Parts: sequence; C-alpha cells; structure tokens
Amino acid sequence: MVLHAALEPLALEELPEPEPAPGQVRLRVLACGVCRTDLHIVDGELTRPKLPLIPGHQIVGVADDGRRLGIPWLGWTDGSCRYCTSGRENLCPAARFTGYDLDGGYAEWVVADERYCLPLPDGYDDLQVAPLLCAGLIGYRSLRLTGDAERLGLYGFGASAHIVAQVARHQGRRLFGFVRHGDEEGRQFALELGCEWAGWSDEPAPEELDAAILFAPAGELVPAALRALGRGGSVVCAGIHMSAIPSFPYELLWEERSIRSVANLTRQDGEEFLALAPRVPVRTEVQVFPLEQANEALARLRAGEIRGAAVLRV
Ligand SMILES: [Zn+2]
Ligand SMILES: [Zn+2]
Repeated sequence: MVLHAALEPLALEELPEPEPAPGQVRLRVLACGVCRTDLHIVDGELTRPKLPLIPGHQIVGVADDGRRLGIPWLGWTDGSCRYCTSGRENLCPAARFTGYDLDGGYAEWVVADERYCLPLPDGYDDLQVAPLLCAGLIGYRSLRLTGDAERLGLYGFGASAHIVAQVARHQGRRLFGFVRHGDEEGRQFALELGCEWAGWSDEPAPEELDAAILFAPAGELVPAALRALGRGGSVVCAGIHMSAIPSFPYELLWEERSIRSVANLTRQDGEEFLALAPRVPVRTEVQVFPLEQANEALARLRAGEIRGAAVLRV
C-alpha cells in the first residue's frame, strides 16, 4: 500500500520483491500495526516522508532463515554523533525511520538493517505482538520518563495507553484515565484496563497527580494536564505531532512542574520492553484489517473508532 502524496489514499500496487543490501535482512511480513504516526504522515502533518512511501513501522515478519523478527520505527542511525555515542540514538539527527524515510510494513515484503530488528517474545501471536513495537515501546519510554510517579494520569486511551496502563498497574502505580468529553466507551475501556478513575479530559482530576502522559495530539491538553499536577509533577507528551499549545499562566508551571516530550526509541528500550511485556503480562486488544484495507484502518483511527490497536494482517 503506497503513499504518493499527502492527503491521498494509499494505492494498492504490485512492486518487485525488495533485495536486501549487505547488513540488511528481508522479512516476509505477517502483520503490521497501524500507528497514529502513520496517520500524521498520510495527513501531511509530518512533512518530510520519502515519496513514494510504504508506511508502517510495527512490522512482524519472518526472515529468510526462519526467525520471527520485529521492525520498529528506528531504522538506522549513524552511530557516531554525540547523541549516538552517549546512549541517545533516539535523538540522532541523521536517523532514518521505518515507514517514513525507509519503506515500511504495509506490504508483503520488507528489508531492514538487521542491527535495528528486534527478536519478538514467544507466547504472542503475530497480530497481538505488532502493537508492542511502537504503541508499547514509545509508551514504555514515556512511562519511564515519569520516574516514580505514583498517581499517573493518562490522556487519550488509544493503542499506547491501553498497553502502558497494564505496565503501570504491574508497577503498582495508581491510574487516572482522561478521554474526550462524552466518549463513554473510551471511559469504560480505561476503567477495564485498571484506571481507578476515568473521566473527561476537560474536567479536573479527582486528586493531585504526580505525572501525566499525553497520548492525544491535542495541544490544549498540556495546560489541562498541568492543572491536574501536584508540585514537582511532570507532563510527558508522547506523540510525534501535536496541535499548538495554547498559552497559559506561569503559575501552572511554577513549583517545579515540567513539560517534556518523548522522541523515538533506542534499541535498548526495545529489548527492555519486549522482555518486560510477557512478564506483566501485557495483553493487547487488536482490531484486524486485511492489508488492502489500510485506508479503512487509517480512517477508523482518525475517527477515534479503534478500540485498542489497529493491525493489518498480511
Ligand atoms: Zn547519531
Ligand atoms: Zn508509531
């Protein structure tokens, strides 16, 4: 499924099988998760994709030698810049990303640099393991950046929050879920996943929070979440794109509150999270679409109609 220009539907096309370059592995794709980032690319909010592009960066596939591997968003780094050499390859300015700079997994075949592929835990089927590769990984990195926050707010209950909630409960944190005003289904979903309270994102929290993770790409949630924090609390923005953040009085940030974003992932995040997920154990809820219905999956995600994570079956 190929993107030729932003705001156009993906086109179903027959392409030659990709040939792996030295250092690359070729996978026959079994499943590929659909991420909100894919939607930001297709909708033109992320402005520099290679074109034409095969999107998709939560790829589960089988290598020519029979190994089952996952391909995440981080597809290549230079390994030599000051970010790479200080354990922050997620910030490498030369990094290439799967399904953005490199062709991704909305396809039958994909090639990837073997050093960035992740072995997948047994005990998960192909469809259920796919969302761990970005929704899970980025969520896990966001959760880590909240430190030892006990009272944690999750804003936006999509693919990532539904995984993070399980990990956070496993760690003994108390969870407060915030969903779009009137989204009663989302509110119930948050409660099922272990939130002790769930309500509307434009309403006050029932008690002071130590941290909040924003998964929804809505800038107005930043001051809303700051308002919910106690002293020293932090707001972590997990998305790659967000609408503009409205101005707010300094007193919302005062008393050592902070706002930060999470960008990409390191290979170490991947290894840590994929080792942790089966121990929780994280169970993903997936809505499955055949590959050729990728446009439908994206439309459903845009409309907020996906419960858990959307996954393409290839
Ligand atoms: Zn680098
Ligand atoms: Zn993603």
